[in-house]
Amino acid sequence: MLVSRRDLIKQISTLPLVGGLFTAGVITPHLTELSGRRDYYKELGLRSFINAAGTYTALTGCLMTEEAVEAYNYAAGQYVALDDLQDKVGERLAELIGCESATVTSGAFSAITLGLAGVLTGDDPKKAARIPYDLTDMKSEVILQKSHAIGYAHALKNCGVKIIEIETVDELEKAINENTAMLWFLNAHNFQGKIQYKEFIEVGKRHNIPMMNDCAADVPPVENLWKYTDMGFDLVCFSGGKGLRGPQSCGLLLGRKDLIRGARLSAPPRGDTVGRGMKVNKEEVLAMLIAVETYINRDHDADWKLWDSQIKLINKYAMEVEGVETEIHVPAIANHVPSINISWDQSKIKITPNEAREALRNGHPSIETVGGDKSVNITTWMMNPGEERIVARRLQEILMAAS
Ligand SMILES: *Cc1c(COP(=O)(O)O)cnc(C)c1O
Repeated sequence: MLVSRRDLIKQISTLPLVGGLFTAGVITPHLTELSGRRDYYKELGLRSFINAAGTYTALTGCLMTEEAVEAYNYAAGQYVALDDLQDKVGERLAELIGCESATVTSGAFSAITLGLAGVLTGDDPKKAARIPYDLTDMKSEVILQKSHAIGYAHALKNCGVKIIEIETVDELEKAINENTAMLWFLNAHNFQGKIQYKEFIEVGKRHNIPMMNDCAADVPPVENLWKYTDMGFDLVCFSGGKGLRGPQSCGLLLGRKDLIRGARLSAPPRGDTVGRGMKVNKEEVLAMLIAVETYINRDHDADWKLWDSQIKLINKYAMEVEGVETEIHVPAIANHVPSINISWDQSKIKITPNEAREALRNGHPSIETVGGDKSVNITTWMMNPGEERIVARRLQEILMAAS
């Protein structure tokens, strides 16, 4: 049985304070221990932590919403035919999001691979069986901007295609030929590229070449879920386990019906395919649907106000230490949430940001942040509400001790 957040709050407010760091109403990842259930991480010699970093795969991304966990547990107890479930969930997702078609993949990365596979094969399973090693009778080139060529573009290479990097519209026009399968776009780098949405889509449409947009980390805002298919991208990819708070090993492939039907040819349960290892089982497929439903219906203004107040609290505590400087910012596209970078005069506060991050990690409870030599960087959207107070106090404590 899932312990609801409200139950946890009730439970902890009746418990004595532990180690001085627990405050009534604060939920911490260590409550499993307090609630008398098995503490599996502890049995393994692992420690959980407060996630002040954000949606990082290495930190296991996000915590699923209660609604998603409930759906996950429901599916764990009852069989269903995988293709039927994907069909129905896809229809519901398309309805909810307002796109032509949708399917659940094992992450945004696999949405990219499967989406491209669908573009290459159309409805031909024999072609699907030849990806990535024999692209005879298939188009074999994908064009993208140099400034969009990040590591995740490897998901395209999994299909055996050749990647063509260009910079300007002129170069794009010249690169397009009869072997061009798809144009790929990295949403987060729209402003870094010389070709932005409007022109990119205009060229793709004119040449009748499918265009894919990788929007993995790009909700909030919620309207991004439909913005880019509306804009004219044929396929759009999202991570399920970032802002959507679904299973970390899920993603969404949204867009044209024919292309998504093609993508499904390379997806499990079909075995002789590039995608057979990208399995998403019933629990995750269902939990992904419910996560999207829950996400769309959230009070997004309330979320924003909460994050904003949390960042301001951390800022206030940090600024009480002499020599500290902070920068509160909101990234324009990906991870578009209130964030804070904290730095200090190291002649006054004798600890480096990396040492401070290590001290946060090694404390009780453990706190994960990001940053480097210059600053400690924090977001609060992946925390449980209340944990920002622990983070604010611990960071202040560490900086004061070094002053
Ligand atoms: C996170 C991310 C991915 C990978 O997403 P998964 O859901 O982990 O597979 C791909 N592209 C970008 C831009 C991302 O931020």
